[in-house]
Amino acid sequence: MDFSLIDVQGVEAKWLTDKEVSLDVLRLDKMHAVVSGNKWFKLKHYLAEAKSFERDTIATFGGAWSNHIIAASYAAKDAGLKSIGVIRGEQPQQLSYTLATAAEYGMDLRFISREQYKQKDEIIKKLDKHNVYWIDEGGYGLLGAKGAAEIVNTIDTKKYSHIIAAVGTGTMLAGLVSASQPNQTIIGISSMKKNFGLTLKVIELLSTRTAARFEINHDYHFGRYGKHSDTLISFINAVYLKHQLPLDIIYTGKTFYAIKDMVEKNRFRSGSSLLMIHSGGLQGNRGLPAKVLAF
Ligand SMILES: *Cc1c(COP(=O)(O)O)cnc(C)c1O
Repeated sequence: MDFSLIDVQGVEAKWLTDKEVSLDVLRLDKMHAVVSGNKWFKLKHYLAEAKSFERDTIATFGGAWSNHIIAASYAAKDAGLKSIGVIRGEQPQQLSYTLATAAEYGMDLRFISREQYKQKDEIIKKLDKHNVYWIDEGGYGLLGAKGAAEIVNTIDTKKYSHIIAAVGTGTMLAGLVSASQPNQTIIGISSMKKNFGLTLKVIELLSTRTAARFEINHDYHFGRYGKHSDTLISFINAVYLKHQLPLDIIYTGKTFYAIKDMVEKNRFRSGSSLLMIHSGGLQGNRGLPAKVLAF
């Protein structure tokens, strides 16, 4: 993990200058080649708490291409803790890149049928031991948001009028909101279809003082979570060729697309300065067939 590699990339494009809007991208993806940017921030306080409770193992949940699983395996190893990954679905003949890498980092993978996976409490009851510290799927929770708040302090973010980020569980968004300035608006782009319960999930992690500063946009899920259309793939390739900005198909590609679309639709007043959080997740692109992406 190398924080000195995090930087800000300015985006120059006609669709921005036409509307007198500026856009910078905070490249959290640069801090590590496979471990997703925001996941590491979300995990750090859970790992610290696990240690303070004198647990020697962390356990958590995720799917075959989960950025959270790969980050948890890496972060646990880094902290000198063992890790268990409860994985949704039957064990495949060949592990996904994500799971193979998590196993390489020492994660003990336990495959659970999709049906059983829904009963997380039952799984925890079965696998629980006094030495295990459980982390919610995606790192959802107060400690996750506390870690994500530190994203805002990796650079000087005060000058931006809007901070825009992809949303899964809402944990990162809550962190960004809690660390934002009163005059800033934080916009989350949901990667899931019609997940309207998200707003409450985010508010649960916030104080009333900050809860009015965010909004969640549900228009850019491209079908559903994990789904990507040819339009999205072409868009991601075009952005890479023009800006040398690699995006992932689950989260950041949809977010960048949303920003462009919202700018073109006059969603931002002229003079607005936008900061997009590139939250990482590039390893998930390895689930695509070769040569679909230009990078
Ligand atoms: C997990 C993830 C998100 C969503 O974060 P939440 O805190 O779950 O909302 C966004 N971008 C990337 C790349 C992720 O891996």
